[in-house]
Amino acid sequence: KANRKFHPDNTVISLPTGQKIGDGSLALIAGPCSVESEDQICEIAESVKRSGAMFLRGGAFKPRTSPYAFQGMKAEGLELLSKAKKKTGLPIVTEIMSIEHLPLFEDVDIIQVGARNMQNFELLRQLGKTRKPILLKRGLANTIEELLMSAEYIMAEGNEQVILCERGIRTYETMTRNTLDISAVPVIKKLSHLPVIVDPSHASGINWLIEPLAIAAAAIGADGLIIEVHNDPSHALCDGAQSITPVQFDALAAKVKKLSETVRAL
Ligand code: PEP
Ligand code: MN
Repeated sequence: KANRKFHPDNTVISLPTGQKIGDGSLALIAGPCSVESEDQICEIAESVKRSGAMFLRGGAFKPRTSPYAFQGMKAEGLELLSKAKKKTGLPIVTEIMSIEHLPLFEDVDIIQVGARNMQNFELLRQLGKTRKPILLKRGLANTIEELLMSAEYIMAEGNEQVILCERGIRTYETMTRNTLDISAVPVIKKLSHLPVIVDPSHASGINWLIEPLAIAAAAIGADGLIIEVHNDPSHALCDGAQSITPVQFDALAAKVKKLSETVRAL
């Protein structure tokens, strides 16, 4: 179902509130790695909205490497995301880790499946029974074919609203957190009609690398970007080193918007 052979036209994800992903424009999704407080999420939401973000990201259920690290605000985090959505009108993108939590996701607009759950086939199947768009991130060490097969798990259950995300893969390189597989964007677009977005934050792990990678993604034809923005990166509870400030996001957003318009006109 994800294969372009049987579905030549690009899939466009349309929210009831009008936002689109895959329509030829560059969709900007921005916000903190994790929701930390009402002030934090609302302040970031308002600033990224002013800079042109169309969606707010923020983790409430966090898949951390260590069980002793901050695990997210969970249900309370989802409530704070709803407050930020009410204030700004920005639709919410947030990660689900267990299908048991689905009833809490009613006000969530796009449900994210994180890299670590890309092959949690039962979770994918259950999300396939929902009617919300699913943002499926590529696994840490998964091939493009495996990513597309995971999309099939969701689509086979009837939910064809899937957005794919290249977020860097594990290689022998240690200078960056992961290695952004930039060629994944045109390769996936050749094989599939689903929209493809890029996450330069998790791909690099380094704040000053976010802008050049975002520019590369916009230039190669990505349908969107998901970027971690924090109002106080040095005190972030998660992923501060790769978080950019609202001011940095504002500059980045202006550049990638202009660039994507130029690329579209080529
Ligand atoms: C995230 O988006 O905060 C996240 C945990 O990403 P990934 O699953 O790509 O590591
Ligand atoms: Mn993160």
